Amino acid sequence: MAAGAIEEQVKALVELHRPELQQLVDQALEAELARLVDERIAARNGNGHVRPEPPPADSVTAKVCTACHRSLPVAAFETGRGKCRECRRSERNRERRSTPVEADRPAEPGIVTPA
Ligand SMILES: [Zn+2]
Repeated sequence: MAAGAIEEQVKALVELHRPELQQLVDQALEAELARLVDERIAARNGNGHVRPEPPPADSVTAKVCTACHRSLPVAAFETGRGKCRECRRSERNRERRSTPVEADRPAEPGIVTPA
């Protein structure tokens, strides 16, 4: 198929629908302009001064661990916990070392599991 013929068809179609296409472009431009104006208005606090920058994202998503006092991303914490996963893990390890391991205990005598 010749590309030139398609081009001609497209041109003809565009020509045929030019008023509608222009209207669509106008609508899109108007919507875009309105959006830009809104953004500009929102970015200024009325006396021409640009609003101060919003706080950096990591001050919202970061949390200070109550155990190691490091500022860590929220992802490093379990939900609702003040200690980071690392501190909780080392805490659990410490607990595990101080308590006897369940599996190491000999089985209760007298309890026989039928085969
Ligand atoms: Zn910690």
